[in-house]
Formats: sequence, structure tokens, C-alpha cells
Amino acid sequence: MLAHLPLPTPASPKRGIYSSSTTYNLQLSMDFVYQTLAINILCNVFTFIFSCVVLYTNVFKNRRIQKQAYKPDILWQRLPLILFNLVALTLLTAVGLYMGQGFFVKENPSVLTFVMQLGLILICDDFYFYWYHRLLHQNKYLLAKIHSIHHRASTPFPMEYIYVHPLEWLGGYVGPFIAILLLQEVNVYVFWTYLIFRNLHEADIHSDIRSIVFTKLPLIAPTEHHDLHHSRPYGNYSSTFNIWDKVFKTEMKTDAPKS
Ligand SMILES: [Zn+2]
Ligand SMILES: [Zn+2]
Repeated sequence: MLAHLPLPTPASPKRGIYSSSTTYNLQLSMDFVYQTLAINILCNVFTFIFSCVVLYTNVFKNRRIQKQAYKPDILWQRLPLILFNLVALTLLTAVGLYMGQGFFVKENPSVLTFVMQLGLILICDDFYFYWYHRLLHQNKYLLAKIHSIHHRASTPFPMEYIYVHPLEWLGGYVGPFIAILLLQEVNVYVFWTYLIFRNLHEADIHSDIRSIVFTKLPLIAPTEHHDLHHSRPYGNYSSTFNIWDKVFKTEMKTDAPKS
């Protein structure tokens, strides 16, 4: 529940989570942090269950892209680093949201605001990720010391989206941060939609299961795009969209050689 407290008028009433169209302020800070963390945790619980279904049942057997069997203990091998990353990510997100709460506004967005803000965050995030990811491959030192950990997964399962060197996901934060700085005032519902979409899309593209949902959305990269990158990592550097690989000529062909 949000507590409505008559706080003093802020110095900059047009900006931040403390501003609203009403004449009083909303004490949202910790609620915003808790709600955002809850969304993240729920998405990861879903991804863990999805991983177990992919690894230990035949539910998606006919939709798998690569046919080789998973090692029986692969989930337990990966779990320590996955859990470390999730705990560190949760703590860092909590601190970041608390300190950056002035950039967020909680009010019902217009359709135009929703589409424009969500589009800008996704585009900034993915454009940054494309070049960041490409650098991680083209710089031999970064590839050997940082990104090679993520590429231990040649046939990924959903939770492996966060099976990465801790410095890798830390560097990946820059994209959405740029978008928030550009917007200055981000609607919390837009931000939560972005978080849910990014989490579920990451689970999907690391599932090795032919996309069921994301092939229906225009411009959005399906599982096959990133799955190919894991099996033969010579291109397909973008994550959310597949246009950057087309524009910058790094799109892989499905019959690209394995080595
Ligand atoms: Zn990946
Ligand atoms: Zn890669």
C-alpha cells in the first residue's frame, strides 16, 4: 500500500517520483524499490521453473532448436554463479533505485507517453548492448577473461541468461541508464513493463526453444537469433531487436560453419 503523506513541497515539483499532478506528494520511495524488486524476483522464479521444464521434461522436445542432450547436472553446475549474480544484482538494483528515485514518476501514462518512453528505453538499451557485446567478442582479452563464461553455454537453457561474469552484467546496466538520463522523468509503469519484457525475452532467447510469443512481434529478435550466436559466436550481437545486425552487417546465416 502506498502511504499518502503531506510532505513539504519539493524544490523541483515537476520532476521525480515525489512529483505528481496532485497538489500533495506521494511517499513512494521504498514501495517503488520493493515493487520493482518483487517484479524481478517473480520473473526469475518463472525463468527457473521454465529452465526445469526445458531441462527435465519433454514438454518442449519438439520445439528444441539444437538436438543434443543437456548434461544432467548442468543446472546445479551453473547455479552458484547464477545465484551470486542474482543476489548482487538485487542489492545493486535496490540501492540504484533508491538513489535514482527522483527520475521516476508514478501516474497513469498516456498511450503516447507509454509507447515513446518504452520504445526509447528499449532502443537505447539494445543499441548500447549491440556495441558492448560486439566489443566483448572482438577484444580478445575481454572475450577470454569476461565473456567466455557466458559462452560455456553452447546449447543454452533459460537461466543461463544470467550465467555471466559479474562485470559483464554490471557493464550491461549502462544502456537503460542512458535512456533514463535522456528521459529525465520515467513513468514507473513503463519501467516495469520494460523490466518484465527484458527478463522474459532474455529467458526466451536462451531457452533453445523455437519462439512461441516473440516471433509474433515485429522487429523483436526470436530465440533462433541468439541461439545461433551461442552455437557459433561470430555475429548476431544484438539481443532485443535484430535490426542492428542487419544494419552493421553482422547477421549470421543459419548454415554458418561451427568453426
Ligand atoms: Zn546469451
Ligand atoms: Zn556473445
